[in-house]
Amino acid sequence: MSPKPSSEHPLFKHQARKRFGQNFLNDTGIIDRIVRSIAPGTEDNLVEIGPGQGAITAPLLEACSRLNVVEIDKDLIPILLAQFAKYKDFKIHQEDALKFNFSALASEKPLRIVGNLPYNISTPLIFHLLSFQEKISDMHFMLQKEVVERLASQAGDKHYGRLSVMVQYHCQVDYLFGVPPECFSPRPKVDSAIVRLTPFTSLPYTAINVELFSKIVNLAFQQRRKTLRNSLKQLLDKEQIALLPIDTGLRPENLSVEDYVNLTNFIDNKINTPNTDA
Ligand code: SAM
Repeated sequence: MSPKPSSEHPLFKHQARKRFGQNFLNDTGIIDRIVRSIAPGTEDNLVEIGPGQGAITAPLLEACSRLNVVEIDKDLIPILLAQFAKYKDFKIHQEDALKFNFSALASEKPLRIVGNLPYNISTPLIFHLLSFQEKISDMHFMLQKEVVERLASQAGDKHYGRLSVMVQYHCQVDYLFGVPPECFSPRPKVDSAIVRLTPFTSLPYTAINVELFSKIVNLAFQQRRKTLRNSLKQLLDKEQIALLPIDTGLRPENLSVEDYVNLTNFIDNKINTPNTDA
């Protein structure tokens, strides 16, 4: 028998907390659609971030009994336990996902991460998760629609920026579908969307120096209106900028991930480590 909907549960007396970004899903059609997109398999190593009152947790546990959840709000723990303690491979980690060591949950099975994420921590959380990317097979997140658009944008698009480049360096990004505010209680002020991030097993373009790549992307997008020639002045002198194999009159949103990688590798090889053989 499927668990009772959380709002009918005897322990249900939880007040949604703004500071934890608590907008609980209450639309069964959307919950079904999210779970179908995740397509949990019985043997999967699933991790849910921010299970809340269990809206997605319940159907996930019906499909896959092994589930770790990371929830910061201690008041939600009894509600989750009352519903799901009967699943012997269900484990609650009452912790801050931003500090959580996800590699501790990886086994021979890579992690599949899911979450209707609090909007205020979504970007730092994605960067935190990318530090475990070799242990993760995919991630499905509900985020503010605008953030999903930024994640999925291509060079030249309105929403293309630092987040697009840094995440697309590591992952295939798929915008799945939008979710309107009416699907939540309380209703958020903004539209939401579901995104799938699939870390590449082998990177399509590899920056030899990832720190330098990140620094160049940051510098470029710090001042979107400036040309690369201007932004890169903080890193290179005029003569070095003249050597770059790109049109430095372009603006940061005109360069693809591949362009940023090529630029980084050129600076790393030809400028920071010049060839002394000649
Ligand atoms: N999954 C539930 C749903 O769809 O109804 C709840 C989603 S609600 C938008 C976000 C959840 O993340 C809340 O349960 C909140 O307490 C939890 N949360 C917020 N900040 C967190 C953090 N830093 N680490 C772990 N969980 C967090």
